[in-house]
Amino acid sequence: MENNKKQDILRRFPSVQSILQDNSVMRLAESFPREFIKEKIEELIKSERSAVIDFLNSENEISSPDNFNFTNDYFVKKLLDDLNNFSYSLKKVVNGTGVVIHTNLGRSILPESALKNIYKISSSYSNLEFNLMEGKRGKRYSHIEYLLKKILKCEKALAVNNNAAAVFMALSSFCTGAKKEVIVSRGELVEIGGSFRIPDIMKASGAQLVEVGTTNKTKPQDYESAINENTALLLKVHQSNFRMTGFVYEPTGGDIAAIGKKYNIPVMEDLGSGSLVGLEKFGLPYEPTAQEVVNTGVDIVTFSGDKLLGGPQAGIIAGRAGYVDMIASNPLSRAFRIDKMTLAALEAVLFEYLDTERAVKNIPTLFLIAQTEKEIRKKAVKLLNKIKKIKNIDKNSFDFKIVEDSSIVGGGALPDYELKTFALSIAHKKISASGLGKIFRACNTPIIGKIKNEEYLLDMRTVLEDDFNDILNALALISK
Ligand SMILES: *Cc1c(COP(=O)(O)O)cnc(C)c1O
Repeated sequence: MENNKKQDILRRFPSVQSILQDNSVMRLAESFPREFIKEKIEELIKSERSAVIDFLNSENEISSPDNFNFTNDYFVKKLLDDLNNFSYSLKKVVNGTGVVIHTNLGRSILPESALKNIYKISSSYSNLEFNLMEGKRGKRYSHIEYLLKKILKCEKALAVNNNAAAVFMALSSFCTGAKKEVIVSRGELVEIGGSFRIPDIMKASGAQLVEVGTTNKTKPQDYESAINENTALLLKVHQSNFRMTGFVYEPTGGDIAAIGKKYNIPVMEDLGSGSLVGLEKFGLPYEPTAQEVVNTGVDIVTFSGDKLLGGPQAGIIAGRAGYVDMIASNPLSRAFRIDKMTLAALEAVLFEYLDTERAVKNIPTLFLIAQTEKEIRKKAVKLLNKIKKIKNIDKNSFDFKIVEDSSIVGGGALPDYELKTFALSIAHKKISASGLGKIFRACNTPIIGKIKNEEYLLDMRTVLEDDFNDILNALALISK
């Protein structure tokens, strides 16, 4: 009898087909694939069914089946709510970590001009590889080379998929033939993360690694002593994400360039982040810019497009014409070439650098680093005032404070340098800091904060004003 009642109740669920035929659901098919809608309906019914089964199993006395009425409308409304919040798997998040160039969160935000150009170039045909003057095949890299030459004052330049590809291609180009050796300081055999390790990339490219010096000290003389007839390249690698202090010494790219000249051996420097503007402008410690490194006489310089440059993922290869041509003619250049969207973005970003002040104003990565403490605090106060004004955020359960904190540049630049910042500290009477973190990450627009001493913080250096609504919505959701 009880079982019959249960069956009767479960039979009252509408069929997937009947929901699919609802008018507003039919209209959804214009925006979403039908199979996807069907799957969503099946999921909805399944989860409601199991909730009802759980409920029925927990009841001693099952009430009359007539008390259960699962209308189509109920499911349709749920479905519409669900799809209203649809997002692809790759989605926007709010970066409250204070790490400006955060590799896991997509590194650099592109400037408006780059976004517009991506849209324009990708929504029509373009002269990607077409010479408009001559009406025949043109060069893909011509669209950025003119800018890189102007900005870096180099003879020639090229961009490939990323800096790892740039280093790999260059090594493979310099080391064609057997037993070609590349000399690197022991203090620079770095791991960048994500399995990019200099010794491994060297092996994969076919180059023979020759380590010189010691972990903490390498002298110019160490390079000279290691040079022999198999030496194909002297390589300098930016230490990027770690810093050695104390009894340490590494020759500069310029020092190594001088040795290269003396022995007629090419010299390459992997700059990693490679900034095009002097960071000391923003009160950060001095680091040579990419222009300065090119100017030291290093033959080839490589750096990332989406680190301090603030552009799309890319690897810039710049330097002497002969070597750049040699690298460009490597068959790998086809495998590592950049696509039109990257080119569209990169040209627009590099164009900003024709005027440094424009670049700092318009390129988000530079702008976020350049923000003063006062500006960040002002942004924090603005957000806090909005929170205070919104009624559906439960002020009794939350405790909001603006606190001093420190953020970092990220992307392997200035790893030990802390930028002063302000953060919004969010505490909740019933939810722990890690609990808050979990809820924020599960929001429609996930919010990624940081936890310091059991305190949940949103670092306002990397929170944009455009993110405020997402934060307010998340707080309102927790208040429900
Ligand atoms: C980041 C980095 C790389 C890798 O650059 P990607 O653009 O991420 O491929 C290589 N070398 C150094 C020194 C780096 O800092």
